Amino acid sequence: MDIRKQEAKKRKTEAESLRLQLDLLVGKIVKLRDSDEYGYLNCPICRKQIHIKQSEAMHYKGRSSQNTRYDLLNVHAGCEFCNHTMTERKYQIFSEYIDNKHESGTTSILESLSKQECKRTLNDLRELKAKYTILYNKLKKQKMFSI
Ligand SMILES: [Zn+2]
Repeated sequence: MDIRKQEAKKRKTEAESLRLQLDLLVGKIVKLRDSDEYGYLNCPICRKQIHIKQSEAMHYKGRSSQNTRYDLLNVHAGCEFCNHTMTERKYQIFSEYIDNKHESGTTSILESLSKQECKRTLNDLRELKAKYTILYNKLKKQKMFSI
C-alpha cells in the first residue's frame, strides 16, 4: 500500500473512532443535562421517573443522520422502553417535548438539518470532541453523584 493510501486509511480510522467517542460523550452529556442533581429524570414520552443509570440517549432524528447525530437538541435522555418502542404517537410526543423544552420550531430545524449533506471534516470531529469533553466535565461537577 502506498503512503497516500495508508494516510487516508489512518484518517478514516481516526474519524470512525471519533464518531464513536462522540456518540458516548453526547449520551453522557444529555443524561447529565436532563437529570436533577441526584440523577433523576422523567422520560420525555411516558413521564416515568427513572435514574440516569437506567436512561438511554434518545435521538429525535436517528444516528444515521450525520448532521444531527451530535446535535444536543436532537438527543434527550429517556427510558429504555420508550426508546425501543417508538411509535408515531410517541414520536409526536417527543417532538412536542423538544419544541417546548427548547424553542418552538426546533424539531423543524432538526428535520431540515438531517436532510442536508454533512460536511464535517476530521478536524471538525476533533474540535467537537474537545468542546464536548469540556462541557461533560463541567456538567459532571454540578451533580451529587458519579456516572
Ligand atoms: Zn418512557
